[in-house]
Amino acid sequence: MSSASASGPSPATAAAAAPVETDAATGATGPMTQPPKFLVDMKAKFCRMCGGRLELSTPPEGKEWRHVCQNPDCGYIDYQNPKMVVGCIVEHEGKVLLCKRAIQPCYGKWTLPAGYMEWNESSAAGAARETWEEAHAQVSVIAPYAHWDIPMIGQAYILFRASLAPPYTFSSGPESLEVALFEPSAIPFEELAFSSVSTTLRLYLEDLRTGSFRFHHGVIDKRPGSLPNDPGAFVVRDHMALSVDLAGPSGGADTATQQ
Ligand SMILES: [Zn+2]
Repeated sequence: MSSASASGPSPATAAAAAPVETDAATGATGPMTQPPKFLVDMKAKFCRMCGGRLELSTPPEGKEWRHVCQNPDCGYIDYQNPKMVVGCIVEHEGKVLLCKRAIQPCYGKWTLPAGYMEWNESSAAGAARETWEEAHAQVSVIAPYAHWDIPMIGQAYILFRASLAPPYTFSSGPESLEVALFEPSAIPFEELAFSSVSTTLRLYLEDLRTGSFRFHHGVIDKRPGSLPNDPGAFVVRDHMALSVDLAGPSGGADTATQQ
């Protein structure tokens, strides 16, 4: 990506306010008088450093709830941070590669090849690796296409456009029932897994129609307790669409290929 200019709405300005929590059942926000549901649901019991007992600690004012080791010689704080999911929109002869999931959640639904980024790899290399693992497809990454934050489930997605690379073959990896190329008009939106995938592919079709691929950024808010891709259970907010010039002065984007 050699240049980018904002064409969407301005990003929301973060309010300078004391931390609040969102009640997982009602969506209401308020002071942090109770630990957030995701921490309670983890049922974390033991310290990873010393094996001591963990307890959810009442935070000082303005701080977050944490699991804290009760061993006075340790006191380890078990921080929980969001995970990064990386994946590819693989293009070949005007079609897009999708994988039918062989695992839960969303068993039997179609998805873009994607998975958790590993230590010691870049997001682009991770996206290519996941594509190899799930679809046995070699790819060349073209450009980042979308970044979605999903605060409710502690995930952030980076999805790249990529082209199928030699030998231009693909087949099901262990987490896929089936792998197939779809004409854009035949993408099975009613059978897609995950809000991030359906949101990305809807924008991808928009960009295809206009002939200009943008870079998309935004936040996906899910309704508490909703299924991964209930179409009425999430909204996209703070969407920014940045125009991208891949043929600018620097001569285009570097590429990463899974070896
Ligand atoms: Zn400990």
